[in-house]
Order: sequence, then structure tokens, then C-alpha cells
Amino acid sequence: MSDIKTDLKYVATTCPYCGVGCGLNLVVQDGKCIGVEPYKRSPINEGKLCPKGATCWEPVHSPDRLTKPLIKKDGKFVEARWDEALDLIVKKFKETSDKFGPKSLGFQVSCRTVNEDCYAMQKWARVAFKTNNVDNCARICHGPSVAGLSLSFGSGAATNPFEDVLNSDLIVLWGSNVVEAHPLAGRRVMQAKKKGIPIIVIDPRYSATARLADDWLRFNPSTHIALANSMMYWIIKENKQNKEFIEKRTKGFEDLKKMVEKYADVEKITGVPTERVKEIAFKYAAAKNAVIIYCLGITELTTGTDNVRSMANLSMLCGNIGRPGVGVNPLRGQNNVQGACDMGAYPNVYSGYQACSSAENRAKMEKAWGVTGLPDWYGQTLTEQINQCGDPIKAMYILGLNPVVSYPDSNHVKASLEKLDFCVIQDIFWTESCQYADVILPGACFAEKDGTFTSGERRINRVRKAVDAPGESKIDYMIFGELAKKMGLKGFDWKTGQDVWDDMRACTPSMFGATYEKMEKPESVHWPCPTVEHPGTPILHKERFSAADGLGTFFGLEYRPPAEVADAEYPYTLMTGRCIFHYHTRTQTDRCEVLHYEVPESYIQINTQDAKELGIKQHEKIKVRSRRGETITIARVTDDVGPKVLYMPMHFDQGANNLTNTALDPLSKMPELKHCAVAVEKIVKEA
Ligand code: SF4
Repeated sequence: MSDIKTDLKYVATTCPYCGVGCGLNLVVQDGKCIGVEPYKRSPINEGKLCPKGATCWEPVHSPDRLTKPLIKKDGKFVEARWDEALDLIVKKFKETSDKFGPKSLGFQVSCRTVNEDCYAMQKWARVAFKTNNVDNCARICHGPSVAGLSLSFGSGAATNPFEDVLNSDLIVLWGSNVVEAHPLAGRRVMQAKKKGIPIIVIDPRYSATARLADDWLRFNPSTHIALANSMMYWIIKENKQNKEFIEKRTKGFEDLKKMVEKYADVEKITGVPTERVKEIAFKYAAAKNAVIIYCLGITELTTGTDNVRSMANLSMLCGNIGRPGVGVNPLRGQNNVQGACDMGAYPNVYSGYQACSSAENRAKMEKAWGVTGLPDWYGQTLTEQINQCGDPIKAMYILGLNPVVSYPDSNHVKASLEKLDFCVIQDIFWTESCQYADVILPGACFAEKDGTFTSGERRINRVRKAVDAPGESKIDYMIFGELAKKMGLKGFDWKTGQDVWDDMRACTPSMFGATYEKMEKPESVHWPCPTVEHPGTPILHKERFSAADGLGTFFGLEYRPPAEVADAEYPYTLMTGRCIFHYHTRTQTDRCEVLHYEVPESYIQINTQDAKELGIKQHEKIKVRSRRGETITIARVTDDVGPKVLYMPMHFDQGANNLTNTALDPLSKMPELKHCAVAVEKIVKEA
């Protein structure tokens, strides 16, 4: 008799990792996830998955899952009842708020959890404590995209869908290693290449993506604005700009033109000879439809917002906005970077980017939420909250984040968290940050709840419950509902993910028509979707930009060097990034045998000539120091990085963020995670 079991259940859901938002089926047997199966109807990935997506079910039933609330007593965590833990949180947050005011609390929301959790947490923070100190970890990846694209286009989101690259005549990948960081978006680029669509990669590193380029341009790290300004100078000088588009659809062209006149020759800054700048610029200007795709190489710098605006400048200069095959598209590294911002887990906006500073918006939200006195002030961002631990921030609530590993300057983060009077961490696993908490609450992972993730192309994808959460762990939005009810607040009586979503839709004009019903279709729906009859908006800015006057804005932007540049003491420039096998701080991916096997520990790429001069051999352990800390890591000797440039993946605890710089982009408050000065030492073994 066959022992093949046939009682398998297939639950269509969305990959919990990057912002591509691939569809997949979780395979469930006897109440447990046992694998994934391709979801061929998904128009995003057409049944294909990258190594992370294919193993995403493995951490779900890990024995390491948090399953009970924990309270720190006498320096040790002990198991607690839910009531005890929630009562303590309410008591401490109320006491702190009553004594020190709403600016003494910090709320940090993960981009990895569903929209419904993000909306629930920010609503609870705003309604219960009248604070705007709510932010999410988009701050340390795509905060500059939200700020920059909003300023240029009136909307801080990607303009075109991923598959639209197949309609392009030229794809420019700038500061994006799409093949490793967003593999199924990378698949679209590979499909485009097969179609004969040329690809330009602009990156200081010869990455996996640069390898498939028709034209790879290496330039000095963090000199984007100078390079873009020079490209625009030559396009204007040779009269190759799109005059009709500039005249009809934009403003500020004269400011841009005046600024770029200083940038004819930028070889000293960028390392790129003028003839090469002209070559790339004229290719972009000549393409009928050209798309710019960028990622953290553009954003994670103190010039992040200006870098993003430079991408917008270039696209508008050549009229590459508002139709198939064009656009400016930031690739989001986490599944719900777009959604966490959309949900109002942001210090200056409610859901759908409705400004808190507007009296009209506040009155509307007060009516919707049945509350008075919502604040008008701009709350503190994620990293500002860390800097303010102790004064004025006394209590912090961290949902699904691991600041000790993922924020810049780990030593600074640890010292800051120690200054808090009270800290709550809600997560699915014990992380390096948990020891700094007073209460730890066990949440539910993507396989255990109904909800939505919004991908980098503004597509709202359904997440569906496949299995129960382990032990006593709870669905995160329900935890916020319980906290609110303990405080006697109304409007938090959600029973399902759809209840939370509909609560959000009711007060969010740009998403009012994005119903769960619409998301039943594999292609789901892209916001804006203002009415139930509306089909959604895959391409933005078709007839007019999203700004109030309908125009796109050019900005004349001056090049500024990074906050910390290499010098005699720290002569190397460190860049950071992702590798295909890991996701963020590896809390989940390191629990997958295959992924751990591929990259079990941190490494650093060092140029062949530099390694030779330092006597460093392939795979030798070396010490890397910055002004903030040091780390021991494995050398990968390669010419993929240029002389005096190093590259390190950001996923490891004893890794890049021991070294990185907390200096902030003045507009978006993005820390300079992509650029700092370091020294490299060979480790000399004692005889
Ligand atoms: Fe998941 Fe991103 Fe891989 Fe798709 S490309 S399977 S969304 S990690």
C-alpha cells in the first residue's frame, strides 16, 4: 500500500523576503508547512522563485520561535502571562507619557510585517499617546526615495511595474545589484536582455548585475550627483533634451541648466573621463523609452535624497516618465518597505501620505478614529529616536526590528538602548537586540496571519494564513488591538486582517478602492485606487504628475562628498550591500540549512593589488577598523572592487555595522550606510 499522503493543502500567499513580492503556494500537511510550490498564475514571478523564496517556509516551525511573553525580572527574562505583559506595557507607556509627554515615546515599525500590523501600530501610538514619533525601517533603506520622488514627482513611489522593462529600449541600473538583491526583478532584466534591449549598469563594483550589462560604468563611490549633472550638462549642451516634455510637464528647468554648467568635466570627482560620460548620456538621451532602476547605492548616503532627485531630473530631461517602458523605479529590499510607509508608520504622514501638519487631515483622522488632539508636529525618525534614547525618549516599542545589527554603528545603538527606562520588542525570534528589552512579545510570522504586503511596484499582494502561530504567540495587529482595549480605546475591535485593512481604507483616499476582493486576482491591484470601480494604477504620472500643480520639478543640485572620506589614518572606502542568500540580519535565512551553507559567515571584498600590498591572501581572516568599531572578517580578494574600495555584505552581526557611519541625510535622515572610511590590517599570529 502506498504511504504517499494526499491531504496536502496549498495556500496562495506572498514571499516574505524582498520587495519584488513573488507569489507562491505554501504546502501544508497536518497543520505544518512542509514546502513551497510555484504559484504559476503570479504575473510577478510566473512560478519562479529565488533561493530565499524557495526556502521561506523553513523558519516557520523552527524550535527557536518565541512562543510566550517574557518579562525581565532581576536582569533575567521569565515567562509571563499575556495579561501580565500587556498590563505592564500599558502602565509603563502611560506613566512615561503622563510624566514626560508624547515626545518621550518611540515606536519603530518593521517593513517586514504586513500592512495591517503597520497600520495598527501607528494608529495605537497616535490615538493612545498623541505622538508622531512613529517610523519604520524604510528610513534606513528608501527614506530618500519617499522624500526625493515626492519632491520631484509629487509621489514617493516607483513609477512603473517590474515587467514593464520589457517595453523599454534601454535599461539603466544605477546603484542596483538587481540580480542578487531582487532576483525575480533581475529575471525581468535578463528577459529584456534576451529580447535585445541594451542594459547599462552604473556601479563602482563589478557586481553580478554588471556582468550582464552591455555597458558597465565604474565610477568613484558616492559621486552620483556629479556624474548625473555631467550627463545632463552634455545632453543639454548637445540639445538632446526633450523640449516638449520639459515645457509642458515640468518646472525648474532653468535652475537645473544653470547648476549643471559647472559639471562639464567631473573626472577628478567621479573618475570617469568626459568622453565616457558623454557616451552614456547620449545613449540615454537617444533611447525612445528608457527606464532608470536604482537601489540602495543611490539612497543610503547623506546625499540620498539629492541622488534620488538627480535620477528624477535625468528622467524628466529626456521625457522618460508616464508611459510604458520608461520611469524611475526604486527597488525595495524588504517585502513591505512600500507598504509600511503607505500605512502611515511615518513621523509626518497618516496612511496614504496625508500630512499630519494639515489641520484638515488631522480633523478628518480625529473623526475617523474617534479621538481629539492628534499632534501636528513632525515626529522623530528611526535613527533620531535611537540618538534620543534617554533624553527625551524614555520608552520604546520595537516591532520586528533588530537595531543592534541593522542600524549603523552597532556600539552606539547598544549604548543608546541601554539608556531607555522601558523597551518592548515584539518579534518572532530572539535577536541580538532582545537583551536590551524589558518585555518581549511573541508575534506571528507571514504564514500565520491574513494580511497584505505592498511590493516595490505599488502592487498590494495578499498574505494568507496557512498554519497556526506556535505556542501562545499572537497575530501582531491583534496585540495592538488588545493594548488599545486595555486603555479603553474604541475603534480597535478588529477580528481579521480585512477588518484592519477596511479601517485603513475608510480614511485613505488613494487606497479606498483597493479591496481584499480585488486582491483575489493573481495580478491584484496597484495603488492609487481611489474608488471601488477603479482598476488601479500600474503606471504613474501619465497625463500629469502627482504634485498639486500637476508638474514635475527639476532641482539644481550641488555635488557634496560623503560625510567621511578616506584619509591617511583610514585609507579605504567601505561600501555595503546584500548577497543573494541572506535577508537582512539573517534571523530567518540563517535558519535555512541551504542558505546558511552557501554563506555561513561575513566576508569582505578587497582589490587584488591592495591585498598584495598588505600581504593578504584569499580567504584569510583580516581586521577592519573604523572610527566607530572594528570587525574580523574573511577576505575575498577580487578585482570586482577597485583599488582602495572594499565591499561587505550587511547581514552579519560581527559585520559591516560595527563600522558604518551614523551621519544623516539632512532631508530624509538616512544614515550613510554605504560609505565610510576604514583601515585594514592583516592579523599577525603570535609565534
Ligand atoms: Fe522572494 Fe524576492 Fe526571491 Fe521573489 S525575488 S522569491 S520576493 S526574495
